[in-house]
Amino acid sequence: MSFNDLGLSAALVRAVTDQGYTTPTPVQAQAIPAIVEGSDLIGIAQTGTGKTAGFTLPMLHRLMEHRPESKGRPVRALILTPTRELAAQVQESVKTYGNHLPLKSATIFGGVGMQPQIQTLRRGVDILVATPGRLLDHLRQGTVDLSRVETLVLDEADRMLDMGFIHDIRKVIAAVPKQRQTLLFSATFSDEIRKLAGGMLRSPQHVEVERKASAAEIVTQTVHPVSRGNKRALLSNLIGEGGWKQVLVFTRTKHGADRLAEQLEKDGFSSSAIHGNKSQGARTRALSQFKQGRVRVLVATDIAARGLDIDQLPHVVNYELPNVAEDYVHRIGRTGRAGNEGKAVSLVCVDELNLLKGIERLLNRNIDKQIIAGFEPDPREKPEPLFKKPKGGGGRRPQGNNGGGGQQGRGRRPSQGQRSAAPGRGGR
Ligand code: AMP
Repeated sequence: MSFNDLGLSAALVRAVTDQGYTTPTPVQAQAIPAIVEGSDLIGIAQTGTGKTAGFTLPMLHRLMEHRPESKGRPVRALILTPTRELAAQVQESVKTYGNHLPLKSATIFGGVGMQPQIQTLRRGVDILVATPGRLLDHLRQGTVDLSRVETLVLDEADRMLDMGFIHDIRKVIAAVPKQRQTLLFSATFSDEIRKLAGGMLRSPQHVEVERKASAAEIVTQTVHPVSRGNKRALLSNLIGEGGWKQVLVFTRTKHGADRLAEQLEKDGFSSSAIHGNKSQGARTRALSQFKQGRVRVLVATDIAARGLDIDQLPHVVNYELPNVAEDYVHRIGRTGRAGNEGKAVSLVCVDELNLLKGIERLLNRNIDKQIIAGFEPDPREKPEPLFKKPKGGGGRRPQGNNGGGGQQGRGRRPSQGQRSAAPGRGGR
């Protein structure tokens, strides 16, 4: 299935392709054709399923297909969201996917001045993304006209109800034409949502996608406690004894990645390293050799591995635990996709016990520990700091514990949870 099969115009398929997306997600594959045909729709899907493109693409398609003859630019599509943050995100998607189309969009939410919004509305917009409270303020003041709305979208309707927007929503619905297409998205299909949908949708199609089990739930995770100096020998043993054919190994530093790949080569395993100091050409080459099975071990740093198109790996090894606990989850997400059982193994020495604790706290459970015979950790080994203070103070500078150096400069990005958290209500 490709985006060409969903009935979308060439300009929209091009905009999706520009984003590097080749395959529609399940919610997109089901929702897009139904919406293109004009059906009302209830979509039970969470953030992360691709639901935004699932309603934005067909909505844009229809707006282009049925352009009104009259002059001016009435609001023809209205998307309600519970929060300002979501409104801004959704408008970003509208802009991204509408990149090749002559349509205008705007966001309307509280907490900022009315005047600039009034001016924007006066100039005319085709697509309005709004939080209910501020939209009602504009309705009361007569600064927005919703009488020409053709498509109404309620995004994260369950959250809007939780936030007490039900009356506001009903007032907005009273201001849009009865003859319209209505799309309702919600993470859950509760009785309240059923009731809301019953009164505002007409013979809706239902699309429901299951919550994806997180990598942490489906990947078998094991920690092998080991002495600092024995990690490489243990890794070679695991690869050799286990007959692992394709393994992605994470190190903390670029230098550590290079050294490990060299040492594994010496142990008889074809290996390549990828990290930020390698040219794009070298990275692409290493990756394609790995995918073809010509290279058995790919050693990578977190940044180099991010965005790599390698799926369904049978084995991921944390040769060193990451500095940031969330990166552990990203790393193990490289295995066990699409129903394949994956294994993630972490080689943990005494220096990393605090990092391990942080990861277990994030996962909210302990990871199974297995000592491999012949590679028992030395109980006399004392922890050494992973991060040495740079001379003259300043920020922490991680120092690889086995040769170190060459740490990639990286900021701590917000995790998915933080990104989708909803600070502040999107009302007035
Ligand atoms: P959403 O559930 O709408 O918040 O989307 C989750 C993420 O998936 C967003 O970062 C989108 O850019 C991305 N995305 C949407 N559609 C696709 C697709 N077909 N393939 C890959 N990623 C996608």
